[in-house]
Parts: sequence; C-alpha cells; structure tokens
Amino acid sequence: MSETNPMNSDQPETGITPGGTTGAFRDVLSKDHARRGKPPLHFTDMTPEQRIDTAKELGLPKFRVKQLANHYYGHFDVNAAEFTDFPAAARADAASAFFPNLISEVTRQVADEGTTIKTLWRLFDGSLIESVLMRYPTRTTLCISSQVGCGMGCPFCATGKLGLTRNMSTGEILEQVRIAAKMMRDGVVAGGPGRLSNIVFMGMGEPMGNYKSVLSAVRQISAMPPEGFGISARNITVSTVGVVPGIKKLTAEGIPVRLAVSLHAPSDELRDELVPMNKRFNTTQVLDAAHDYWLASKRRVSIEYALMRGINDQAEHARLLAKRLNHYGDDWAHVNPIPLNPIEGSRWTASKPEDEKRFLDILHQAGITATLRDTRGQDIDGACGQLAAKGDQSGEATAA
Ligand code: SF4
Repeated sequence: MSETNPMNSDQPETGITPGGTTGAFRDVLSKDHARRGKPPLHFTDMTPEQRIDTAKELGLPKFRVKQLANHYYGHFDVNAAEFTDFPAAARADAASAFFPNLISEVTRQVADEGTTIKTLWRLFDGSLIESVLMRYPTRTTLCISSQVGCGMGCPFCATGKLGLTRNMSTGEILEQVRIAAKMMRDGVVAGGPGRLSNIVFMGMGEPMGNYKSVLSAVRQISAMPPEGFGISARNITVSTVGVVPGIKKLTAEGIPVRLAVSLHAPSDELRDELVPMNKRFNTTQVLDAAHDYWLASKRRVSIEYALMRGINDQAEHARLLAKRLNHYGDDWAHVNPIPLNPIEGSRWTASKPEDEKRFLDILHQAGITATLRDTRGQDIDGACGQLAAKGDQSGEATAA
C-alpha cells in the first residue's frame, strides 16, 4: 500500500488504522492480563547522577557512562559482547545494570512488500504493546506506543476497549525506537540499509497521559549522540485526543515537535459521543490550545479526523469543521481525514469513498489544507485502534 500523497512530506502516518481491528493483535491484547508494576530501571530512565552512581557501584569510572551512551544512542548496542571498549570482565555487569531487557518481540507482521513491519512486544510484566515501522521513498517513520492500553474510552476504538493497564517507562518507549533504528541500519526493512527519520506517538496510549516519560523520550530521541538518537524534533509528532493541560505544557516546552489533535467531530454535541474526553475539555478549549501551539511554535497542527459512515462524514460536518478552523484566520492546521477501520460488530464503520471525497472537497474549497490519509499495513492483520483515534494530519507522524 502506498501513501495517498507521496508529495506531501508534511503528512504524518501511523500504520495503524482508526477504529481498531478484528485481527490477531487485538485478540492477543485483549486476552492479556498484565500484572502492574514498575519496569526495571534502564539507562534511559536514569539521571546523569544515577548513571554515574550505578557505574561506581560496578567499580567503573565516570567516563564509562559516556561510552555506554555512545553505544546505546550511537550504535544501538545493549549487549555485553558489543562493549569492546570495556574491560572484558566488566561487560556483562554493565549490560545487565544499565540495559535490562525491557521489550521482547512476540510476533512480527510484514506488509507493503516488506516496507511496513508491525511488531507486537511483550513487556517485563507480560503487558503487550505494538509499534509499526513504515518505509517511504524519502523517510522512514516509526509509530510507537506510550501506554499499555488507553483510558480514554472512545467507543469506536479497539484500544479504548482494552482500558488502561499502565503507563510505559521512558526506557520501554525508547527501546521501540532503538530496535527500529537498528533494523533500518542493518537493512532488515526492504530497500536496504537506511535511517529511521520520523517518530510518531500514535501507537497505544494517550501520550499526554504519560507526559513525563513521553517528554523524556522526546528529548532523548531528538538530542544528538551521545545524548540521544539525533532524530530532529521537527520529525517527531506527539498526538493527543485533546488533553488541554498537556497541550499547554508541551507549548511551554518550546520543543519544535509537531502536535496532532484527534478531533473526529466539529461540534461538542457529536464529539461528546465519540470522544468522552470532550466532556472535560470541549472543542473550543481544544482548538484554542492547539492554535496557541501553532502561534508559539509556528508548527502547523495536525487535526486527525477518523471518518465514520453517516456519523461525522457528511457535508455539514465538513463545513462546520472548516468554519471552526478558519475562525482562527491563519493557515495553522492541516486536516488528516482517515478512513475508520471498524471493530467487528460495531455501529461505527468506514465512510463511503464518495463521502470521503466530498468531505475533502469541502475542506479544500474552504481553503483548508487537508489530505486523505491512506494507512499502511491494512493487509496486516489488525490495526491498533489507538492510532486511529489520533489520526494525524499535517505532515509528520502522530498517534493518539
Ligand atoms: S481513539 Fe485514541 S484516545 Fe480514544 S480510546 Fe482509542 S486510543 Fe484512546
């Protein structure tokens, strides 16, 4: 499956289809009863002082910490055998103290002629999460999870039905990135060796619900080695279903990530039904906060909109959405309508193609930048409902 608009490098992609799936991933996820608890502390969870103290406990001088950072962020190494600049006797202890195994591959599904790889991971407590790696001609995007499940309860979404099990640690979030970066470097993805260039927080979970770990992950993804993976903050998308305090905090950080807001409805009446969080932060509050993000960052905000047949995909909805966005006056948002991938037996189902087209046409006629997003991996069994919920819109990847 190819991108809807390969020329639009500003459009994010999630690899997960809105609304969830009947596939094996979801079945496995829903049957899992994870124990809660804290994951082992990982190098990426530690403060600089904690790293030095841990090294000291192993009898290692401070400069070894920098070497380990180089291994991790620069070479994606976590195995003792790879620490060849370490004394042989210290390698195994260093590996287990700093790089406990946090995520293990359960299954991998490959689609789009080897350019899309969706992986189901098991965490230390048996929790299951997933990530999707998508290679395009000019970039490679990884969609990652930030929570086990999601507590936002959107009724059309498979992940929402799982509920929230727990937040993921920074280490668990970053291990998805490290492994994908290594896969790209080693040529595991069709197309030969390459570089992971974009990250979207559009996998399982509401990123704003796990703000501290997500922000720490963002900083470590974007910092240059040896402090981070060196993926530009401009190529990172953080999505939200509309948690306004989180949007405000992100605005204050001044990090030029892209913000994606999963709107899904242009009015409070409809959004109250589709997105329970709307009762806490309504469409005006969400759009005001999103527009403030644009004012502060000058990064266009992605408005994700999962098109559901007969629910939110009619001409009146497109007209109202255009009016709400144009109210702010400037070209501050990019709408990403995305076809819903329905949950079996649900009353929410995908829009008719002609309704999708009309929706898009109305937005364009109103001067709104909008791109109908095709989702990768639809031939992979099962898409994460969460990604769907957070559909992204303006040019980089997001999730929600
Ligand atoms: S649509 Fe997004 S925010 Fe809503 S329940 Fe699903 S994953 Fe959570």
